[in-house]
Amino acid sequence: MLIVMNKQATPSQIDAVVAAIEAKGCTARPIPGGDRVAIGVLNNKGAMATSFFMEFPGVKDAIPVTKPYKLVSREFQSESTVIQVGNVMIGNGHLVLIAGPCALESEKQALTIAGMVRKTGAQMFRGGAFKPRTSPYSFQGLGEEGLKILARVREETGMPVVTEAMDHEVFDLVEAYSDVVQIGARNMQNYSLLRRAGRAEKPILLKRGLSATIEEWLMAAEYILEGGNSQVILCERGVRTFAHHSRNTLDLSAIPVVTKESHLPVIIDPSHAAGRRDQVIPLSRAAVAVGAHGLMIVVHNVPEEALSDGAQSLYPEQFEELFNQVRSIYEVF
Ligand code: PEP
Ligand code: MN
Repeated sequence: MLIVMNKQATPSQIDAVVAAIEAKGCTARPIPGGDRVAIGVLNNKGAMATSFFMEFPGVKDAIPVTKPYKLVSREFQSESTVIQVGNVMIGNGHLVLIAGPCALESEKQALTIAGMVRKTGAQMFRGGAFKPRTSPYSFQGLGEEGLKILARVREETGMPVVTEAMDHEVFDLVEAYSDVVQIGARNMQNYSLLRRAGRAEKPILLKRGLSATIEEWLMAAEYILEGGNSQVILCERGVRTFAHHSRNTLDLSAIPVVTKESHLPVIIDPSHAAGRRDQVIPLSRAAVAVGAHGLMIVVHNVPEEALSDGAQSLYPEQFEELFNQVRSIYEVF
């Protein structure tokens, strides 16, 4: 349930409602808004009577929240969340471009790609240091050495960096080095990792699981918000279907659904969805047209030699082409 206070509600009236919620064994979560405070009621066992809360002075409305996700929902917070990463804002109406290789391979490779994508117009850099690979024989990433490379990229280019924390064990390290911590598709329902992300001081980029419904994805985000971290960026990266003309099927319809259901920003990763570079530019155009707040694009200076995901990596000049095309579409909307 969401208790909406009057604009003139006093702090002691708010405290009284919080105390009443807690006395019922529930958790009260005050949510300051532009001109009034709302109080979320969490952890209630079963339905609660709205009439009980309507009796309290300063209460304007008590709204039952019908969705299983609460904190991430628009019912709880109608204003869109804007996440600031360095001087980049995500979700404020400007399209954010995140680009970089699938995996960090060397300092030279990372700095070369970072310089190229930044010159084109990318605002953030991506690169994996710990890689979730289907085969244990594939390149697993440089680990902490990769994180140090990311720190160098940030120092050289000024771009904030995003990289994946694959498990609980490396989360602290990844959090210390990165500006945004990615939780990958395979880990979307790793609840202990989500709980750790909930205690993080950095924003979390939460990818949609390979076969997750939108409800499951939003429930995963709910774990992070419930843990105390309200800075979550959702990322659609394709789901597994019967189609084999692409690695996954990019679910463009997720964007209007998620932006309606949730106040969190949502970006699209067309590279991991397609798995092939020839589909990345058209899918990026569609992603922007459908209302994504940003794009995350895999770019490599020599894709033929990439240690992971070479087939989906754009050449730097293709990234430039992508940038110009999506900018025009973005301006139209
Ligand atoms: C990645 O971003 O490199 C990655 C492994 O993505 P996903 O978790 O979406 O497969
Ligand atoms: Mn990858």
